Amino acid sequence: MNIIAELYPMNRSITGPGVRDSLAVLDQIIDLEISEVPSGSAVLDWSVPQEWIFREAWIEDESGRRVIDSANSNLHVVNYSIGVDQILSKADLEPHLFSLPDRPQAIPYRTAYYDRSWGFCLSEEQRQQLGDGPFRARIDAEHIDGSLTYAEHTIRGTSRDEVLVSTHICHPSLANDNLSGMVLAAALAKELGASQPRLTWRFVFVPGTIGAISWLAENRDDLQDITDGLVLTGLGDLNPFTWKQTRQGNNRIDKLMAQLFLESGVDSSVIPFGPYGYDERQYSSPGFDLPVGRLTRGVHGTFPQYHTSDDNLSFVTAQGMEQAAGFLLQIAQMLESDRRYMNLQPYGEPMLGRRGLYSSLGGLPNPGAAQMAMLWLLNQSDGERSLLEIASKSEIPMLELAEVAEVLVNHDLLAPID
Ligand code: ZN
Repeated sequence: MNIIAELYPMNRSITGPGVRDSLAVLDQIIDLEISEVPSGSAVLDWSVPQEWIFREAWIEDESGRRVIDSANSNLHVVNYSIGVDQILSKADLEPHLFSLPDRPQAIPYRTAYYDRSWGFCLSEEQRQQLGDGPFRARIDAEHIDGSLTYAEHTIRGTSRDEVLVSTHICHPSLANDNLSGMVLAAALAKELGASQPRLTWRFVFVPGTIGAISWLAENRDDLQDITDGLVLTGLGDLNPFTWKQTRQGNNRIDKLMAQLFLESGVDSSVIPFGPYGYDERQYSSPGFDLPVGRLTRGVHGTFPQYHTSDDNLSFVTAQGMEQAAGFLLQIAQMLESDRRYMNLQPYGEPMLGRRGLYSSLGGLPNPGAAQMAMLWLLNQSDGERSLLEIASKSEIPMLELAEVAEVLVNHDLLAPID
């Protein structure tokens, strides 16, 4: 929560110092490998835009009073606006103003990334109180040749299989979308780095759309080992968890999320893949077709705080972040433990008592359930069925199965085959 508060006032965009400053904050949690892609570089079908250097934006009324000022909220300037300094009548200013009549106290978040325009966002209440003008509108900003910045953090496991965790870093003062995702991804990476994961974990921190496209362009020959992927965003609110399925809808990560929702009993939903949303769109484009879905709580566009100044430091709560962190850790543990085993005594049931297995399970919280888990594991471990499939079939929580599998491995009754 402290890091979210530190990141909140920074004026992020798809390029420029706000992104670099934000990554420097995350770099205090995990070591980030920073990449800079020069402006104008061809990336897939796109071109890397110029850097946006923003200093200030305000509107003064006739008396010289600043009626709108980016010093109060960096949402007041349409993100990536061109510079302007003009005296305007109210009628001429109006097309450059954006407010939300349905939510009169909130400042909307708007961007002008791919057209050369400028504008101000303000609350409907502020708009009503502007007066008649004329107004001086000044945006002190420029676009310069520089670079687009993204960051990676890779934790090498013993397996070749890789998990991609991607989160966007380009929104300015919006807390849930996506400071929650940025901080949780970094926290998960830190936690996994402290253990010795079996899988390789690739964390990617990218400006939305163009950042993911740039990362894909730079890494297109190094994607073949990605077996599972999650886009993380909007996880710090208290709405139910939502899994947006991968493009195929039946990848391992889809089944794992369904299993986790079932086991945890939390209020949650699974929604099918669609081509609109966050960076899962890029990872799931047909040329790449990576098995990447998206974990959020409130879904973009469906909660009233979305892309407004109400997505602030009171919308994201410590409780929401803690729940999401626990959930992410559980997803990681499930992915780490999803292996295939071979029963080394497959002819008849092995005699468990002789091996002292009842007593060795005595220390587990629920020996009866552990015994059932043992029987399921021994029966199903034919080298074909994964732990996730056995969990689904047996209705025994996957991580409980994993714990018992460990005991059976130690007694030479099971052997992991991957
Ligand atoms: Zn957004």
